[in-house]
Amino acid sequence: MNWGLIGASTIAAEHLISAIRSCADNQIISVLSANAERGAEYAKTHDIMSSTTDLEAMLADPDLDAVYISTTNEKHKFQALAAIAAGKHVLCEKPLAMSCADALAMVNAAEKAGVVLATNHHLRNAGSHLKIKELIAAGRIGDVQAVRVFHAVYLPESLQGWRINNAAAGGGVIPDIVVHDADTVGFHLGEYPLEVTAIEASGSLGQGVEDSVMSVWKMPSGILVQTHEGFTLRHAETGLEFHGTKGSIITKNVMTQQPIGQVELRTADGVEEIKFSDHNLYARSIDRFMGAVAGQGQPAATGRDGVRSLAVAAAVKQAATTGTRVAVNYGGL
Ligand code: NDP
Repeated sequence: MNWGLIGASTIAAEHLISAIRSCADNQIISVLSANAERGAEYAKTHDIMSSTTDLEAMLADPDLDAVYISTTNEKHKFQALAAIAAGKHVLCEKPLAMSCADALAMVNAAEKAGVVLATNHHLRNAGSHLKIKELIAAGRIGDVQAVRVFHAVYLPESLQGWRINNAAAGGGVIPDIVVHDADTVGFHLGEYPLEVTAIEASGSLGQGVEDSVMSVWKMPSGILVQTHEGFTLRHAETGLEFHGTKGSIITKNVMTQQPIGQVELRTADGVEEIKFSDHNLYARSIDRFMGAVAGQGQPAATGRDGVRSLAVAAAVKQAATTGTRVAVNYGGL
């Protein structure tokens, strides 16, 4: 498959270029940057055949099969719609767009054009999360009653740009991290919140955008979910806990890009340390995407999954700014 990168980004450089190349049949034939010089330098550094600033020209290449979009969030929609219109398959970064309605428009366009649109929610691909899902589905903790998500970290200095000072580019911890947590909890439970409440804050990093938020979600089954996302905590660990009628799953360091962490099952029989696969999360995302393009199953996270996670983040933002309890609007999905 011939890939084009839309966005000369950090995430592509650090994870996706190697993940795409982990499949021997893949080639990256072009990269798009808004800056010609930066794009050329990026192409040279990463051994990509060509660079361009012209989206239409990039997409007009008949040899191009798929694009990976990892520009800042406000660009995802028009770039995805252009790629879809050109008949290309699209793996798009989260959040899919700036609004749920825009993300839905992307999903509808892809379905109409018969191309794959996937969301790069990497956590679903982690060995730890695949194992947690298996434990819950097998009834090892009984009926789930409550979930706690600990996803407040310290934003690396190299990423302290648009994320902390540019709401128009999709900055703020809610679009950045709440979408991942909504997707992950939805993946494990098979349901998404009916309503949410939240309080946000702008502490040492946020300039005009929130850099931390805590929220509570009520699921259709009645399960309560408590989450904490942040950019400013230097020494906190991430984690995810599921508490059920027969046991609990307690995890540490699993809300991460690396295949690391600990998963513990606690029941009346005692505490069991759960082993899981340490495969690369992004390579699995690419593998599932390519399977979907070949007509074999769905991507790990579909476009619709991206709409759902964005709908939850939008409701959390609304709840945090209005101080009210907000019903999540999934736009009819
Ligand atoms: P970056 O800030 O690295 O890249 C975003 C854009 O900023 C690029 O497209 C590029 O524009 C421009 N840019 C990047 N580096 C420089 C530089 N040194 N000088 C000038 N401009 C620069 O963002 P991220 O890679 O962190 O995030 C990109 C997207 O990926 C976001 O949507 C984010 O939410 C998502 N993401 C997803 C993750 C996941 O695990 N699923 C993890 C991290 C990010 P141009 O292309 O025009 O050159």
